[in-house]
Amino acid sequence: MSERAALVLFSGGQDSTVCLAWALALFDKVETIGFDYGQRHRAELDQRQVILAKMKDWPGTLGQLGPDTVLKLPSLAEISETALTRATEITFAQSGLPTTFVPGRNLLFLTYAAALAYRRGIATLVGGMCETDFSGYPDCRNDTIQALARAVSLGLDRQVAIETPLMYVDKAGTWALAHELGGDALVNLIIADTHTCYLGDRAHLHAWGSGCGTCPACELRAKGYEAWRTMRN
Ligand code: ZN
Repeated sequence: MSERAALVLFSGGQDSTVCLAWALALFDKVETIGFDYGQRHRAELDQRQVILAKMKDWPGTLGQLGPDTVLKLPSLAEISETALTRATEITFAQSGLPTTFVPGRNLLFLTYAAALAYRRGIATLVGGMCETDFSGYPDCRNDTIQALARAVSLGLDRQVAIETPLMYVDKAGTWALAHELGGDALVNLIIADTHTCYLGDRAHLHAWGSGCGTCPACELRAKGYEAWRTMRN
């Protein structure tokens, strides 16, 4: 088993792209995994290929970008009745969680990723889970992630680490980390190619990237970008 290999959960969004750059700076070999779970729009899945092509020979990184795997998880859409998989309005459900929340989604993604990593001889998973902005998502919390790392380590009888470089970083900090890792080139790639918008809008270009500009994901991304720009000046 290679100690210096990582498998990055890569969705094509801003956070997982920063995680990919982070992994490329720290690991010799980096592979990626994505999930096709019947998302209402395919913009993210399309953008991941664009980003991977550009990251292939990313200058100044240590790691080699290896194979990408996309797993189809159609059963997730069968289970969940949420705004990402059905054409329902994005509002907060009675539970207080956004209706975009797919119950336990990250637990499933990480478990599938751990199974693939086992087959590929990779001991480290990297994910963009974050407590700071979406504290409503209980499967993004550090306690959850570390408990799962222990469960999959026991279940696979092999030590699996789950690294979450963005766990305590807010959206402004994510832009700052991107700049730290890859300078303006990485920031520009994130603006141009990563996808965040819940509505799958890639027609409207803003300073912070493409999106409708009004859904919660766009608002968060725009606010973070503005805060980071203010910090820099
Ligand atoms: Zn949007």
